[in-house]
Amino acid sequence: MAEHGAPRTLPLVMEPPKGRGKPPRHLADLDEAGRKALLEEMGLPGFRAAQLSTHYFGRLVHDPAEMTDLPAAQRADLVTALLPDLMSPIRSQSADKGTTVKTLWKLFDGALVESVLMRYTDRATICISSQAGCGMACPFCATGQGGLQRNMSTAEIVHQVVVGARAMANGDVAGGPGRLSNVVFMGMGEPLANYNAVIGAVRRLTDPAPAGLGLSARHVTVSTVGLVPRMKQLADEGIPVTLALSLHAPDDELRNELVPINTRFSVAETVDAAYEYFEKTGRRVSIEYAMMRDINDQAWRADLLADVLIERGGRHWVHINPIPLNEVRGSRFTRSRDEDMAEFVRRLEAKGISTSMRDTRGSDIDAACGQLAASG
Ligand code: SAH
Repeated sequence: MAEHGAPRTLPLVMEPPKGRGKPPRHLADLDEAGRKALLEEMGLPGFRAAQLSTHYFGRLVHDPAEMTDLPAAQRADLVTALLPDLMSPIRSQSADKGTTVKTLWKLFDGALVESVLMRYTDRATICISSQAGCGMACPFCATGQGGLQRNMSTAEIVHQVVVGARAMANGDVAGGPGRLSNVVFMGMGEPLANYNAVIGAVRRLTDPAPAGLGLSARHVTVSTVGLVPRMKQLADEGIPVTLALSLHAPDDELRNELVPINTRFSVAETVDAAYEYFEKTGRRVSIEYAMMRDINDQAWRADLLADVLIERGGRHWVHINPIPLNEVRGSRFTRSRDEDMAEFVRRLEAKGISTSMRDTRGSDIDAACGQLAASG
């Protein structure tokens, strides 16, 4: 037991600061049995839980005023029990001809988080936050600079998606009414450092309505810096979500600097855990690699990246997503030259690894990957 001196390692699960109260309990925090039991404990009819869930997840209605089938006498109690206000929009900004929409949310305690809805020709994806702030301190990421404020609750995480799904269904996003199909945990926070709430959210997103939103698990991507024990735990959950690993460097020397948790879990251990995820779930792992000029974009590093992955499990267990770095104001990290990015991709492909450069939707409204800083 580490009784003397400072702990040698960072705590794996960051505890939120105490004393500010908990986010309001909401039906999205509970499974169906839990919702029913809660109403019954309050002396309300249990079957109303399914009715509320159908409104919320099935019809995407979250304003109680629109739930005209609720008995007037019980409405207030039902709403207090299961549909409290979770967050209010502070500001919305759009880009890419209205197909990218970023929303800044204020949570019950004033904490600020952001989500970004992106519509493509064949799908619509929402990028959501799992923590207010982030404790991982990656020096090139805007969110990482402010530290962690607190973990979000399951309902706070899920609600971002429900609001996005409703916006799509209503035709509020350029392109007419459509369906939200994909969710990526690539907004603020490290999802695996808020493990239980994130797993609860993944279950709500993938459970069929009215228990949940009924999205395909394959269309849900959990992105991580590489919290190895949590990656192993995720592999055992039996939910085939897509795992994205933010690698950013194939060697410990550089990765220790770019992704500080690497000093605790080395590249080899992290890549091993990603491979184990592939073996257990059959899901190809995405490798995220933000392209930073003269930092991690050398041709030899592309070769080394391919070698490290191939050595672990061959060519077909990963897909590499290089991302042009989104430049964060005041940061010393800049975006790679186009010719260096092209050569990097060429080298990976030459080694037979499937690679696709990620786009940078929303960069002009600071809505692109790693730019979410919620400055209020
Ligand atoms: N904590 C999770 C989710 C964070 S955001 C994780 O690290 O995976 C999702 C992705 O955006 C991560 O791969 C992250 O490293 C990357 N990212 C952060 N800052 C970026 C920036 N300025 N430009 C491009 N990608 C960035």
